[in-house]
Amino acid sequence: MAGLKQTIIRGGLESLYFTGAHIALRPLVGGVGAILTLHHVRPPRPDRFQPNRLLEVTPRFLARVVRTLRRSGLDLVSLDEMHRRMTEGDFSRHFVCLTFDDGYRDTLQWAYPILKEAEVPFAVYVPTSFPDRLGQLWWLVLEAVVARNDRIGLVIGGRDRKFDCRTVAEKRALYDELYWWLRGRSTESELREVVRNLAAFYHVDIAAFCNELCMSWPELAELAADPLVTIGAHTVNHPILAKLAKDTARSEMDLSRSVIEAALAVRPQHLSYPFGDRSSAAAREFEIAAELGFKTAVTTRPGVLFPGHRNCMMALPRISLNGDYQRIRYVRVLLSGAATAMWNGFRRLDAA
Ligand SMILES: [Zn+2]
Repeated sequence: MAGLKQTIIRGGLESLYFTGAHIALRPLVGGVGAILTLHHVRPPRPDRFQPNRLLEVTPRFLARVVRTLRRSGLDLVSLDEMHRRMTEGDFSRHFVCLTFDDGYRDTLQWAYPILKEAEVPFAVYVPTSFPDRLGQLWWLVLEAVVARNDRIGLVIGGRDRKFDCRTVAEKRALYDELYWWLRGRSTESELREVVRNLAAFYHVDIAAFCNELCMSWPELAELAADPLVTIGAHTVNHPILAKLAKDTARSEMDLSRSVIEAALAVRPQHLSYPFGDRSSAAAREFEIAAELGFKTAVTTRPGVLFPGHRNCMMALPRISLNGDYQRIRYVRVLLSGAATAMWNGFRRLDAA
């Protein structure tokens, strides 16, 4: 199913490119700017089972994207500058912001040298439990359980279920099924409990992912010291905010800001909602972010920025640089706004 979906998306991006629907590669047709989402930037790995590969691009691809953006005459700006342009209505030049979610060590190791050299400002949204080494990167725990076993048992709906996952195709299908089943749990604590049980039963060390993949506070401090870098909030525990009680959701957003301020001596003004899709962050979360006084907050709802977004700065769309589509022509189509306009049914603002 995932393969089919990808083929359709890729086909859509290809046909938009070849029909010129994105208007002769002009960037941001109808829009004024865009915010790009990245997660991992690292060299490709040979494993065939990489269900989270969409969350990573190669350093080479990032370098090409930066060159393409520069050549297209777009301004690469910080979140503060994006906020200024949006609120003052300064749309004389098109602009793009680069944002990295989760604070992975490869942001420092691979992305930073490229962006530093090209003098590109960027933001890193940090869930504070990750540098505190208490984070549960549960999607990677699930990946490890499925990768390392041929058969998995799980209690679903009170029933003992067994799943075969011997081949790569079976592993991919099972990962998708279990990922979305977990995302569908009614509370965050239920999701975490299932993952903790799976990790314990199949001997996967949850803490190891944080230690291995995420920046420590000293590493984050190294980035934060550079004026090119904006450190943003991304909650404490990286929960699906919409599944939390309102007070808990609020303290996840508020507390993460205080922890970052205590550790790095910078108070984050910008927020990224974990997962960031419609089922993870919506009207209630946007209201809380506004009450807490964030200047901007980003979702993962796909889209470019229009002047009207100045009235919904707590629900900004982004464009994800997806590891499955590492071609410059896809980036051109996405940045033209043509693909996301189709995706959104030609509706420009979506802040409900
Ligand atoms: Zn995240």
